[in-house]
Amino acid sequence: MKPRLLSGMQPSGMLHLGNWLGALQNWVALQDRYDCYYMVADLHSLTTGYDRTAAMPERVKSLVLDWLAAGLDPDRCVMFVQSAVAEHSQLALLLGMITPLGWVERVPTYKEKLRELSEREIQTYGFLGYPVLQAADILLYAAAGVPVGQDQLPHLEMTREIARRFNHLYGPVLVEPEALLTEAAVLPGTDGRKMSKSYGNVISLSDAAEMVEQKIRSMQTDPARVRRTDKGHPEVCPVFTLHRYFTPADAVAQIEIDCKSAALGCVDCKRWLAKSVNTALEPLRERRAVIEQAPGMVQEVLAAGAVRARSAAGATLHRVSAAMHLDYTQREDGYGGDPGPGLAPSVPADSVAQPIPGQST
Ligand code: SF4
Repeated sequence: MKPRLLSGMQPSGMLHLGNWLGALQNWVALQDRYDCYYMVADLHSLTTGYDRTAAMPERVKSLVLDWLAAGLDPDRCVMFVQSAVAEHSQLALLLGMITPLGWVERVPTYKEKLRELSEREIQTYGFLGYPVLQAADILLYAAAGVPVGQDQLPHLEMTREIARRFNHLYGPVLVEPEALLTEAAVLPGTDGRKMSKSYGNVISLSDAAEMVEQKIRSMQTDPARVRRTDKGHPEVCPVFTLHRYFTPADAVAQIEIDCKSAALGCVDCKRWLAKSVNTALEPLRERRAVIEQAPGMVQEVLAAGAVRARSAAGATLHRVSAAMHLDYTQREDGYGGDPGPGLAPSVPADSVAQPIPGQST
């Protein structure tokens, strides 16, 4: 039995090269070593975008299309939408009851994001509670590991703290997840700043080859290199940084030499980069073309994923509810009536979360 892992992405539009190298390639590699649950975090996206939900179904679809094109395989991992598994909301509510306010207020990204998104009305209960929902996501699947970057460690530590507090109050039910530290690549965008949708400087995984060429043609280079005969400084050039990720190492070494001696011009250098990026994206384009020939495939993948996710999440919620003496549907005192959607487990009562090997529960 492989250890279980949970990770998620918000459906905020088409994925780009930064998302691919920063997370998605790692997800694809992890499929064979872990029992992977990959979640479309649509509830999380409400914390900052609760007033813009009309395009949500389309964004969910486009995200999962990118996942499949990048090589996530529904036979080797579970892909599901967070809101399709009601247990996420239910466990978040229960964990919210035991989470001290000070814990969520001290999360470093809370104040940082409030500042970053000061134009939006996000001083909400939901936004403050983001880390509790995240804890529920992870703890529901008894995930042994969570792939995180250094900057997300405080979030994971809070999940571990919440699990410990729960287990202290109600008994050993929740599994404390370990961090699978990943060094996330940070790619420059076409304007030299970090590649990010909010800067409008991305090369999307779904861009056609011509679009990739066009975007790379417009990229910033070494600002000191004004004339073709000027010697370049590749270390400050975003085009060169992308070469490091997409062009074979021996060729990158030659580019560095030729840029510094002005033997290579920026136009040719960019043409070269476009070719390297398009070569890397070609397998994704081929898979995308196959998927697009099968209408309904994304929906089928997500529907099957939701069933598997509900089964795992329901087992944990059942144990949590029982530990908190809230499992009315299983009692004979007449409070519960028919199992309804409330706290009723969505799996049979005799189904329990399986402990992860090597983890104490
Ligand atoms: S030759 Fe390439 S690496 Fe050198 S400045 Fe031009 S684009 Fe950048």
